[in-house]
Amino acid sequence: MGTKGRSIIGMNVDDLVEMLNKAFADEWLAYYQYWMGAKLAKGPMREAVAAELLQHATEELGHAEMLALRIIQLGGTPPLSPKDWYEMTNCGYEPPEDPYTEVLLDQNIRGEQCAIEVYQKLAEATKDTDPITYNMVVQILADEVEHEEDLQALVEDIGLMKSRGA
Ligand code: FE
Ligand code: FE
Ligand code: MG
Repeated sequence: MGTKGRSIIGMNVDDLVEMLNKAFADEWLAYYQYWMGAKLAKGPMREAVAAELLQHATEELGHAEMLALRIIQLGGTPPLSPKDWYEMTNCGYEPPEDPYTEVLLDQNIRGEQCAIEVYQKLAEATKDTDPITYNMVVQILADEVEHEEDLQALVEDIGLMKSRGA
């Protein structure tokens, strides 16, 4: 990136790139977990769950795109091989081995809760040091908060459906 653009960053750029690379690995793993879950989902509200999971997959890929652009702009290199995702991830990967909708939703809720923590920490780290990254991170954080809410609303609907015998 340009020398002036780099000079305005008030934190160690290598540390920032490392945090962004770890978040990037999380996003690809989240993308795949959602994408696969959308294909496999079975059980209560299968179609609504599959549609939401697929939408979230697309949005996680969008986050990976935003992160990659910023990492490169900062002079970093995103992980070049998928095997690096497992080594770098904050939030891990839960294979959708059980395709039952409620199980998939719980797995993905855990992932979103981890993502919220990751972006909250990135927001704290960049708040007073890097307005460009901060702005991006806050946009992603808002999406992750929405994702958690969407999934918890589906769990709630399934619970209501069951309790009312609908
Ligand atoms: Fe994301
Ligand atoms: Fe998400
Ligand atoms: Mg959604």
